[in-house]
Amino acid sequence: MNHFVWPIALLAWWPELPPEPPRVRSLPSHRQAAAKQAARRYAEGPLRVTDFRAAPPTEPVPGSPSLQAFTQTDFRFTWKYTISRRNRRFHLKATTIDLYGVVVRDRSWNRAPDNQRLLDHEQGHFDITETAIRQARLKLQEPMSRRLIRASGNTLKRALRRLEENVLQFLEPFAAETRKRHTHYDRVTGHGKNSAAQHRERMRQKNDLDRLAKQLRVLPGTTHSPE
Ligand SMILES: [Zn+2]
Repeated sequence: MNHFVWPIALLAWWPELPPEPPRVRSLPSHRQAAAKQAARRYAEGPLRVTDFRAAPPTEPVPGSPSLQAFTQTDFRFTWKYTISRRNRRFHLKATTIDLYGVVVRDRSWNRAPDNQRLLDHEQGHFDITETAIRQARLKLQEPMSRRLIRASGNTLKRALRRLEENVLQFLEPFAAETRKRHTHYDRVTGHGKNSAAQHRERMRQKNDLDRLAKQLRVLPGTTHSPE
């Protein structure tokens, strides 16, 4: 059994800019260690002041000059797989795929770190990303997702790339939907300034997360465990 870790930079969203196609790409290997250090898993707890490591921009953010904070969140996955060789081809099968959300700390900034309401608004962004991660995990458990977990190629490298592409393609619609939700959240809450709307959105986000947690709990584990 081998272990292969492949973080991806997926959700480089910025409020107020027109939506773009999701940019699903892999990080070059030399950046993986740095990316790991800069990213913190959702499961490690709510956002805290120390997660905002980037310096706030000196110029006002275009389209959103009063923006007080920015939280960059992202998808990541790791997998484990087995290899077999038949007919001079490498056949890979993922035994587990672990999907998780992160906050990218060295790209997140906060002009008012002591403002708890602002921090809660930013937590909403982290929760939106986590909701998509949980939805993707559920989908990965469906029988029709099983095709994702197998790939083959003439070389090990090619087979690995196909397996990785399978997962990236699977995640793309979740990434696109998540970008829309971040934009919608900022629009309806006025970046958290509308207290009533902010409260409503946060309640909805918490309900979604709870419901998905329950759905995932009835399934064996949070990773994909084929046959
Ligand atoms: Zn926001």
